Amino acid sequence: LLEFDHVDKYFGETHVLKDVSLDIEDGEVCVVVGPSGSGKSTLLRCANRLEEIQNGEIRLDGRSISDPDADINRLRQRIGMVFQSFNLFPHKTALENVTLAPRKVRGIDEATARQRAEELLADVGLSDQANSYPNQLSGGQQQRVAIARALAMDPRVMLFDEVTSALDPELVGEVLEVMRDLAAEGMTMMVVTHEMGFAREVGDRIVLMDEGRIVETGAPESFFENPQTDRGEQFLSKIL
Ligand code: ATP
Ligand code: MG
Repeated sequence: LLEFDHVDKYFGETHVLKDVSLDIEDGEVCVVVGPSGSGKSTLLRCANRLEEIQNGEIRLDGRSISDPDADINRLRQRIGMVFQSFNLFPHKTALENVTLAPRKVRGIDEATARQRAEELLADVGLSDQANSYPNQLSGGQQQRVAIARALAMDPRVMLFDEVTSALDPELVGEVLEVMRDLAAEGMTMMVVTHEMGFAREVGDRIVLMDEGRIVETGAPESFFENPQTDRGEQFLSKIL
């Protein structure tokens, strides 16, 4: 569904993604792990065209994302992204944050957008907070609004970049729970996380990156029990 085909990315002279190929299937939860600076965020950002690539191609449903002529706005609607920082609009309520893009970008009428937003906020456990402003919400609640906002565009795939890293430990679980539900509903997801419990339990596949390359991929059980590469073993020895 989401294909990275021999992708190279440079920041100036720095070669940040090196011949990365990866094909994420419909309904798959692909968890990307690896040391700091290995290129995980850059990989996600390239998928959403927040960064340009220099070689190779990225495709969604067989259509090029990386082609300069691709309709970026249309593509971004199909790829939801959630970051470590929630980036909600501070002067809009939770509900308004969720309805804004469907109304402005997709031209959906207010009543329909509102109804859908209420459903999505209920799905992430925030029915009672629909009229709250971001500063009235906990970090975990804000991140769940951010997830609902991304889902409001009916994306084909959801990208998550360390969405629990900025949260107090007691708030991590509620966000992972929402992601677990989403995975169970069959959403295609690419998830960068340090939460190895989540990776193991919810991931269909683990991808280990190091220095801009994919150095190992495998099913969670085999990756965590029996890594196939030295890099995999080293990585696990540091984090487990
Ligand atoms: P972390 O786990 O710390 O989030 P990461 O795996 O997400 O790390 P990236 O943020 O993708 O790593 O960074 C990969 C490499 O690209 C790093 O060497 C980083 O310094 C470099 N890099 C990232 N963004 C830029 C940028 N805008 N300009 C120049 N170099 C960048
Ligand atoms: Mg990162």
